[in-house]
Amino acid sequence: MSEGKFDFIISGAGLVGCLVTLQLAKSGYKCCLIEKNKALNKTSFKDYSPLSLNYRSYLLLKKFGLWDKLIQHIYPIKNLFLKSYHSLNRLRFEAKDIELDELGFVIDRRVFTQVLFDEVKQSKNISLHNESIINKLGNNKKNEFFGVYLDSTLSKKLLTKYLIISDGAESSLKNFLDIKSKEIDYSQTSFVFNANASFESSTAIQIFNKYGIFAMIPYAENKINLILTINNKYTSSFVGRNKQIDDMRIKEIFKNYINNLDSCNYVSEYNLITSRTHEIARKNILLLGNSSQLLHPVGAQGFNLAIRHIEMLMDHIKSENLDMLSLSKDIDKSRLDTFDHIDLATKILANDKIPSMLMTFGIINTVKSSRLLRNIFLKKILGLEGYAYLTVGSKA
Ligand SMILES: Cc1cc2nc3c(=O)[nH]c(=O)nc-3n(C[C@H](O)[C@H](O)[C@H](O)COP(=O)(O)OP(=O)(O)OC[C@H]3O[C@@H](n4cnc5c(N)ncnc54)[C@H](O)[C@@H]3O)c2cc1C
Repeated sequence: MSEGKFDFIISGAGLVGCLVTLQLAKSGYKCCLIEKNKALNKTSFKDYSPLSLNYRSYLLLKKFGLWDKLIQHIYPIKNLFLKSYHSLNRLRFEAKDIELDELGFVIDRRVFTQVLFDEVKQSKNISLHNESIINKLGNNKKNEFFGVYLDSTLSKKLLTKYLIISDGAESSLKNFLDIKSKEIDYSQTSFVFNANASFESSTAIQIFNKYGIFAMIPYAENKINLILTINNKYTSSFVGRNKQIDDMRIKEIFKNYINNLDSCNYVSEYNLITSRTHEIARKNILLLGNSSQLLHPVGAQGFNLAIRHIEMLMDHIKSENLDMLSLSKDIDKSRLDTFDHIDLATKILANDKIPSMLMTFGIINTVKSSRLLRNIFLKKILGLEGYAYLTVGSKA
């Protein structure tokens, strides 16, 4: 027996699931959000789990009416240094180069999720099922309601017009639908540490070196995140058994950028085996976020890409019936573009073979030599290429 009829059922209440559900509910659609874990209820944590929002994501969160709820939790990034191997290959970008006040913002990922989840709980158009999972899908035909069965007993049946799968990289629904992915093993591990340090305020740094890709992202005065993506053969040279970092090596690598490094605390680590699904849509089913692509952290793209896909969904839905094929073509285009950038960064900029070093030198120095090229490159990183950000983004 059916226990509810919805326009959209969304599986997974992470950042992407919560955000897409909120936007759909705001547009008047009846939504049901299903999350396998317990409800969140926490906004303070002893450590910081960083997520960088680029300027496009800031504009979208503003457009979605959520920025005011996040503003007390964010730290602005105004400048960005990129360095590949040695000082000849160094680029500095500043927000003012493209007439902005910030390039983006940093937020604790868990705080962000909690803020969105609190909004979800308040929405009248959203029915929330915690500690539940979808275990079976009924036969679904285009533009018709189909059945979604919850939990192992399959005793609860819901009906929906569309299903959004946003239940993360290990998505069981993706496996149920037999959606195949390309896996990429970078033989790297990404470590996140919090530390105290002095540094140029609001300035983030990314250094490509023979050990991997090392980023420093500040999150408060004198507080930094070190996001160290280390080639597995070097991990033991940087991180000890008790997850202690080798301060001396880190100081040496960041020597021109941070001082007084102190109190490095381990936060988390991720083995970098990433995945990219071959399909993102089937009839009236759409994959969003980590369930469709788990990305290498270079360039901090995961959420920044997913929020653009939510924007695309909301734009497409303005037409009466959602044309999943046309939406998935648009989404795929932006995914492939992002995959290309990630591949360029991981295969060329982060590679110490002579041909790659020469190409890197060529790319960086060409970009450096022209203000126009530098600004085009910067806008690409920020997701602003072809986007009328100066009119959309003017500060309230
Ligand atoms: C170290 C690190 C740094 C990052 N930095 C950045 C950054 O700077 N900028 C950026 O844009 N991105 C960044 N990312 C990526 C970003 O965090 C992800 O893209 C984003 O969190 C994806 O969210 P999601 O909602 O798709 O997936 P998830 O966060 O994995 O959420 C999935 C949700 O689904 C639930 N779930 C799982 N299985 C089921 C099921 N069967 N049924 C129901 N619910 C289920 C889970 O409990 C969870 O709540 C980073 C990632 C990492 C690991």
